[in-house]
Amino acid sequence: VQGRVGPLEIAPLSKTSFPLCMRVMHDTLVQTGKLKHEGRLQFSTFLKGIGFVYEDAIVYWKQMFSKKVSGADFDKDYSYTFRHTYGLEGKATSYSPYACLKIQQKIPNAIEQVHGCPYMWESDKLQQKLQSLNIDQFVIEDMLVTSKISMNVACGKHFAFLHPKNRTNFTVVNHPNQFYEQSRSHYR
Ligand code: SF4
Repeated sequence: VQGRVGPLEIAPLSKTSFPLCMRVMHDTLVQTGKLKHEGRLQFSTFLKGIGFVYEDAIVYWKQMFSKKVSGADFDKDYSYTFRHTYGLEGKATSYSPYACLKIQQKIPNAIEQVHGCPYMWESDKLQQKLQSLNIDQFVIEDMLVTSKISMNVACGKHFAFLHPKNRTNFTVVNHPNQFYEQSRSHYR
């Protein structure tokens, strides 16, 4: 973790430094004002790992949910997920950010669920998302082919596209927080 990240930094960081799984969840949260339970866990543990403290997290999530959920309903029905994430609930287990393997094992089974690894999506849907991020078409085609062989290598190609001057050997992504940390050290 590289210091504290505040609520206003999440949107710009999502564009420069989030892997696709977290970008998808961020964009869905912004667009719909909602994330289902697994998505909340996956995204909130990632954010915790990048330096988002509980006090900021609860303000951020309440604000993001405010399109659809009143503050009182948020406190009653949703805040427990974030207390869980930070180990303030239940057995007081503090949740670690999920590695790619764990994310890839969590397959969404309903249309409004957006957790999981997007490199497992069918090609048309993946292509549309990548195009919406203004990734060059030849890079997209390479990523689509690669994703059928290795999701983690396809993710590395996204990293290379976002950081064209990167000179490290970071080509295989095994953890979304590793993607983020590599990106931040690139900009330092
Ligand atoms: Fe996220 Fe890992 Fe999939 Fe990349 S390979 S999108 S970091 S789960």
